[in-house]
Formats: sequence, structure tokens, C-alpha cells
Amino acid sequence: GNFVPPIRNNGGSTSNMTSRVIGKNDDSMGDSTRKCLEMLCGPDGELPEKLRNLEPRLIEHVSNEIMDKDPNVRWDDIAGLEHAKKCVTEMVIWPLLRPDIFRGCRSPGRGLLLFGPPGTGKTMIGKAIAGEAKATFFYISASSLTSKWIGEGEKLVRALFGVACCRQPAVIFVDEIDSLLSQRKSDGEHESSRRLKTQFLIEMEGFDSGNDQILLIGTSCVKKMKISSVICINEQQTDLKNWMKQHGGDLQNVYIFPFLHQARAWIIRNLLEKDGLFKLTEEETNIVCKLTEGYSGSDMKNLVKDASMGPLREALQQGVGITKLNKEDMRPVMLKDFETALQEVRPSVSSSELGTYEEWNRQFGSLA
Ligand code: ADP
Repeated sequence: GNFVPPIRNNGGSTSNMTSRVIGKNDDSMGDSTRKCLEMLCGPDGELPEKLRNLEPRLIEHVSNEIMDKDPNVRWDDIAGLEHAKKCVTEMVIWPLLRPDIFRGCRSPGRGLLLFGPPGTGKTMIGKAIAGEAKATFFYISASSLTSKWIGEGEKLVRALFGVACCRQPAVIFVDEIDSLLSQRKSDGEHESSRRLKTQFLIEMEGFDSGNDQILLIGTSCVKKMKISSVICINEQQTDLKNWMKQHGGDLQNVYIFPFLHQARAWIIRNLLEKDGLFKLTEEETNIVCKLTEGYSGSDMKNLVKDASMGPLREALQQGVGITKLNKEDMRPVMLKDFETALQEVRPSVSSSELGTYEEWNRQFGSLA
């Protein structure tokens, strides 16, 4: 009774793989899974080729957890990074919006590598690319593929590219892609990570940059490398570069700079203004910016959060309970709140690490 015929079942009732037609009475599939698959079916009611013979639960996972139809980030939400925005607009947004113009000599690369310290806006850039190009955004971290999806990573990658193919234009964002690709072919290399890497290569080969509108964005956080060893960094880069070259398209590197003074000021103003709490003078804002040299975007966000607690803590010290506190009685956020917050929130990237990024950029980056 448990015999499963070795021939694909197009009705899909006994196999736990997807087939051409989604079986209406397939009990092995929950309602939400069936709904998800139905939404991916073409006008003929059939599941696209790319999605056949995959496990429905993986397609569902990609659709619900990895895919973001409306990433909701625009260029204006991103402080600074003017050079990166300009490069990325020309390299990838225009081609996604006007594939008819970006052919032949102008044909774009298929991949983009954003590198720079953590918390500086790489993920935001990825989302903004999708937002500006009206593309579907898929986010996956390479480390989750190797840790959470042990043994299933390559199946998930297949499902990921399959769904992306049906949701074009699409941006596939692989955070810390270097950790996936740099693993060298050696005896010690884990069999499953080798298979994972191969699956990525197969998928990359499988889409045709002339017709498919899928962009792969990888991020690289060189911090994880032995930062004292430039040779090690070079090897990593060569690995990535070869990989992209072999698989159609130049690797385009965009260095995401650590934060400049104006960008830090922008974040302070922007975050506080949203809550009507910004009352610092220009001079005070400048003082905070001088004190936050080397802070990344996410460090600044944490600093503003901490500073915005200052007025609340002060009001509570006067004996009013949190439930009785009148919001209007709280004072705005002041310079002293930032000074206190600065004791708590330290920059996450050290200046010596920043030096390594800059060195890397000089050798390989968009401003080299
Ligand atoms: P990365 O991908 O480089 O590690 P993220 O893009 O995930 O960094 O940034 C983390 C958070 O820090 C963002 O959600 C945002 O709140 C803040 N942030 C980082 N960079 C910027 C920026 N350039 N402009 C505005 N906010 C930023």
C-alpha cells in the first residue's frame, strides 16, 4: 500500500513533490500550501516548469518567509552613500526598468557585491533597489543556509530561484555570500556546503541575463576574515570574482562607506522628527556628529533610541508612574541625552577594521 511508483505523478496526490497540476484533493498538502502554489500557477492553471518536482513546503517557505513583495525602502530613506546609490542606479536599476535598452554593449552584470562594515545600509540598498525597480525582493542569509537548512540548503536554493523566476523582476539578496562561496574545495569541505555551492552555480547558469530579470546581490562583510591578512582577503575576492565571471557577468563591487558627518546628522534628525522629538540646534547636532566619528548607520539608530529614552527616564524619576505619565509633559530630546547615550552605545566597527575595508576598496572597489 505504501508503494510509490517510480514515475512522476502528474496528478500530484501521492507524491510529496509538486507536479504540473496541483491536485485539488491532495490531502498531503495544507490549505495555505495549496493556496500558495495556486498563486504561482500560470493562466493555464499549471505550475511553471521551474517549480515542478520541488517540495511544496519549501516553495511555501520561500513565498512566506523569504519573499517580500513590497520591501518599502526608497533611496530617500537611506542616509549618505551617494556614490553607492549612483553606481547602483546605473548598474542595476535602469537595466531592470528598461531591459530593452540595456542589451549588447550595455547588457548589465548579473551580480552585484556590496561590501562594507556591518550596519551601514547594505540590506537597505538591496531593498531600495527592489523598491525603485518595482521588483520582488528575496532575502536569505548564507549562514542560515548552512546552519538552519543543513542538508536541505540546495533544495531551498532551487525553490528560491524557481519562485524568483515566476516573480520577475526579482532581486535575490544573499547576505554574507562570501561565507558560502569562499569555502574552498578541500578534503575538509563539508559535502553539503559543496552541494549548496554547486546548486547556486547551476541556478545562476540557468537564468538568461538577456531575458530573465533576476539580479543577484551578495554582501560581503570582510570583518569576518582574518583582517590582518590581505592575502586572505585577496583570495576571497578572487574566488567571488571567478565565480561571477564564469557564470556570465562581471562582478560589480560597490563599497558601502562608513558614515560621514552629514549622514549621521541626517539619521539623528530623520529618526527624531518622525516622532516630533527633534529640537536640537544645528550646533548641538554638529557636536553629536563629532562625537560619533566611526559610528555606522545602525549604531546611530541605536544611539538615537537610547537618547530618546532620556526624557522618559527623567520624567519617571520625578515620581510619576509610567501609567499616569502625560506624554505632552515630557521634554524633547536634548544634547545631554546623547551624551549619556554615548556612554552606552559604542561604535561596532573599530577604526583598524575600517582601515581594512578601505584597503579592500582601494584594490577592488567601485572607487578604486
Ligand atoms: P547592513 O546590511 O550593512 O549590515 P542594514 O542595511 O541591515 O546594514 O542596516 C541596519 C539598520 O541600520 C537599518 O535598518 C537602518 O535602521 C540603519 N541604517 C544603516 N545604514 C543606514 C543608512 N545608510 N541610512 C539610514 N539608516 C541606516
